[in-house]
Amino acid sequence: MPTKSKIPEGYNKDITIATIGSHTALQILKGAKDEGFATLVICTEKNRQVYERFNSADDMEIVKDYKDILSEKFQKKLLEKNVVLIPHGSFVEYVGAKNIEKKLAVPMFGNKGTLDWESDRKKAKVWLTDAGVKAPREFKDPKDIKDLVIVKFPGAKGGRGYFTTFCEEDFSDNLKLCKNPQEYTIQEYVVGTRFYPHYFYSPLTDKVELLSMDIRYESNADGLARTAGQTDVEPTFTVTGNTPVVVRESLLPKILEMGDAVVKSSKKLFAPGLIGPFCIETICKDDLEFVAFEISARIVAGTNLYVQGSPYSQLIYDEPMSTGRRIAREIKIAQNKRMLDRIIY
Ligand code: AMP
Repeated sequence: MPTKSKIPEGYNKDITIATIGSHTALQILKGAKDEGFATLVICTEKNRQVYERFNSADDMEIVKDYKDILSEKFQKKLLEKNVVLIPHGSFVEYVGAKNIEKKLAVPMFGNKGTLDWESDRKKAKVWLTDAGVKAPREFKDPKDIKDLVIVKFPGAKGGRGYFTTFCEEDFSDNLKLCKNPQEYTIQEYVVGTRFYPHYFYSPLTDKVELLSMDIRYESNADGLARTAGQTDVEPTFTVTGNTPVVVRESLLPKILEMGDAVVKSSKKLFAPGLIGPFCIETICKDDLEFVAFEISARIVAGTNLYVQGSPYSQLIYDEPMSTGRRIAREIKIAQNKRMLDRIIY
């Protein structure tokens, strides 16, 4: 069971929604404002101007290092403001999934135990497999590399440092150039089109909503397509942005089924399971089968495209509903129904 923060009584009246100034903070804070919450952004001096110039939050706390939020003094300050923290990709990377689970007493939206399952590649694979979602083949021994593979390293570094290779010899040459060559994962390189659907699971309604979808824009893999093979530069996968996408409508049943299965499995693997936003990073092959190479069990950056809602969220909600706003809406509903303990840990 994950450590559960005690929710003080005051939270039933006033809540301040806060997050770290990075990743999806602009969208989260706008969504919180739209739902009538007070907002706070925690950022470094370097990022300050972004959050000031986009009028992101009512209040700002400057820290030297994001791990500073773990100090007793800082947490006390947040508790005095009835803060609910919203985790996102950079939040998990900078503060650390284990620190969030073990050292953070400030209430946080979602199940803290989930973060460890998504940031640990081995656990994520167990989860996807349990849900019956197809994952790329993995090779323990470099000798087994017979076709194109992608070699990955731990941590959510936006694909940085990954490389592709097609044989053991080339693998070894590439590995020598890596800073941290110990912990690698060799994965089948799946050829197809990428779809990163953004889901939201509400424990209050027990429904999974498909809110939007994106494709990550990656340097230089996406740039190489424009060179018509006139360069020897190897593809790399550093995420630099996101582009919008919708999927063929006849593929929606598969996408919805994957979301449902992942939620069901999460309840079994780490009760009470996943709460709120998540994304299954998939590739759709030419036989129209989806292969999922990753799962993110928190808001993903691709949702930043849809501050005003997406083609999918517009069908569910007759108002602009970003994932950030959907999180705030869930908190508001839970607050009104005195059910905050179902969604906040
Ligand atoms: P990841 O850090 O696992 O999300 O991967 C970063 C990027 O590498 C993805 O957005 C994809 O473009 C690409 N990628 C990751 N795994 C695979 C795979 N098994 N096959 C093809 N492309 C992949």
